[in-house]
Amino acid sequence: MELVDIGVNLGHRSFAADREAVIERALKSGVRTMICTGTNVRGSQEALALSGRRPGVLFATAGVHPHDAARCDNTTIAALRSLAARPAVVAIGECGLDFNRDFSPRPVQVEWFRRQVALAKELELPLFLHERDAAAAFLEVLDAERPAPETVVVHCFTGDAPTLQQYLRRGYNIGITGWICDERRGQHLRALVKQIDRTRLLVETDAPFLTPRDLRPKPADGRNEPAFLPHVVHAIAACRGEAAVELAAATTANARRVFPRLGSG
Ligand SMILES: [Zn+2]
Repeated sequence: MELVDIGVNLGHRSFAADREAVIERALKSGVRTMICTGTNVRGSQEALALSGRRPGVLFATAGVHPHDAARCDNTTIAALRSLAARPAVVAIGECGLDFNRDFSPRPVQVEWFRRQVALAKELELPLFLHERDAAAAFLEVLDAERPAPETVVVHCFTGDAPTLQQYLRRGYNIGITGWICDERRGQHLRALVKQIDRTRLLVETDAPFLTPRDLRPKPADGRNEPAFLPHVVHAIAACRGEAAVELAAATTANARRVFPRLGSG
């Protein structure tokens, strides 16, 4: 099984002490490629710096998460543009809208989401997107800016059936995490994941967050890591009634198609 983890927060402080060991375990488990999520300008710079230590294995995104939108200023887009000039930066993001926690005012989130979508279009780069309890406003931005649908990745999808249908109808790609392994809050997702066309499905851990709840043994520190991605793939495959190896191969091919800067591996 050869996998691409399209969303791992390897720059997170919880990985500071043993990041190299985490990467080694991921490689041993078949996760050959990891995209380190950038959630603000500084974090994107750090993700890019990390990727430089493992060329061809680690890649980065450059973007500002909706939580951090209120800290954007008139230097932000230029900073993201210059980061995106580096070949290891495979997408603009993580950007989008989060009306669940509202850490930044909604109109500010919308404005910086819109500007990052425009930047991705200008640079012809894919979009790594976050949406939480904000589907209507999120689609309003995307329908106005019209990025090429095959370049859009809605990461960590946990929404409802009508929202998924809206994304699929537009031809967007959908990232699924270990949320699906949660026997309580992931229940609805188990049924929904069958509706995603195999060519539109991507897999991710979102580590160190979203540790699969059914992992045995449970990690002592509760921390998620990219080496657990095969577990997530097995869970998704079981929900879809597919062979895990085939699903793995399909999601890897999808990741390489959606993020051309990953190369052919
Ligand atoms: Zn997110």
